[in-house]
Amino acid sequence: MSTEIFSKLEIPHTIAAGPGPGNTDPRVLAAFSNAGVADHMQPDVLRGMTEAKKMLREVWGTKNIHTFGVAGTGWSGLDMMFAAVQPNDKVVAFSNGTFSGIDALTIRMKCATLDELALNSLNPTAASVTVIEVPHGESVSGDVVEAALAKHKPKWAFMAHWETGSGRINDIQGFSDACERHGAMGLADAVSSLGVENFSIDDFPGVVAWASCPQKGICCLPLTYAPVSFTDSYIEVLKKCGTRSFVHHPILEARHWGIVEGNDIEKGTYHRTHSAYAVAAFHESLRITLEQTVAKRAKEYSRHEAVLREAVQAMGCHVTSNMTSLIVLNLPKDLAGREMEMVQNCRSVGFGIWPTLSTPVQVRIGILNLLTPAAISDIINRFAQAIRDMGGEVDQRNIDAVLDRHYSIAVAAE
Ligand SMILES: *Cc1c(COP(=O)(O)O)cnc(C)c1O
Repeated sequence: MSTEIFSKLEIPHTIAAGPGPGNTDPRVLAAFSNAGVADHMQPDVLRGMTEAKKMLREVWGTKNIHTFGVAGTGWSGLDMMFAAVQPNDKVVAFSNGTFSGIDALTIRMKCATLDELALNSLNPTAASVTVIEVPHGESVSGDVVEAALAKHKPKWAFMAHWETGSGRINDIQGFSDACERHGAMGLADAVSSLGVENFSIDDFPGVVAWASCPQKGICCLPLTYAPVSFTDSYIEVLKKCGTRSFVHHPILEARHWGIVEGNDIEKGTYHRTHSAYAVAAFHESLRITLEQTVAKRAKEYSRHEAVLREAVQAMGCHVTSNMTSLIVLNLPKDLAGREMEMVQNCRSVGFGIWPTLSTPVQVRIGILNLLTPAAISDIINRFAQAIRDMGGEVDQRNIDAVLDRHYSIAVAAE
């Protein structure tokens, strides 16, 4: 028997112009690859974790002591966020796209009784869970949340802050207020909003737990650390009911970040092996975020999203999103129905745009960490060319006019 050794894997550079992962900052890549070989109890690695925890509290605008990173991606953080949700718990979940739909699936898995889980283990129905479906392309409004919580009076309520599947911003203020009014503990998927929108989680006291990811708004690498934050009231509930997970246990995982019995301690204690590379990368991404400030970043996202939006509208596309890191669009009428083909054409030349992952099929173009006139102009021109390559018509003069109007001064200054 012979084992084939494949040739060395080479992965090309692409333009990450999708919903995420975003364009990792070169400083993050350097921090990752320059970290020395060190174990997870080496003093500088532990110091890096306690410093990262403190910077994350600042980025997220919170005094929550249980604020730290979960090794992995967004779903790792979200799985930890749902740790205190138990079988038979009454939950109302709002779903308006791919990701909040998967969050609702997680909730049904956590809430299902053993019998309900066994009946359909991959997609269980849980009698204690109500999922309110808001149509793709629409936001979850405060009124919808208010009505559902008033009617069902759940223990937990869930909503995505920004639904990346359809590019919609949901009403987090209305959600938090309704949770407070009806005594529900709010859980928020903030995977797409952290580092892009300027918000402080302490301004939303109805929300007791938040989860995000490394590779979108904070421009770190996937599989480093997914930020999470829990209020003391969440931790009290968890302490009473427990959770059937060692690795995704918020209280146990927090120990490695130097959070023990509700206090910051000097040095973390072992929970699981951490990566010096991941710690170095996460630490650097938070330093960059604080240097640039979330407020400034948020402004830049709005500014560049507006240019991209105007340019694709000038190409005859119809935009249905309102997030600032991403636009979701329908192609011009003569190319309708060819969204998937267009995305594949672009991806085959290293222009990494995305389709929607659930129906209807739309095109998603993201600008994570691509906040320069040059990068946005490049995306716009590539997209215009992709439309032409499919036989569509784009008048370059209209595109140039949009770019000139917004960027000529900026480009001249560069
Ligand atoms: C990207 C995303 C996720 C999933 O995150 P992964 O990093 O792929 O695990 C979940 N929720 C929302 C809103 C997202 O945008």
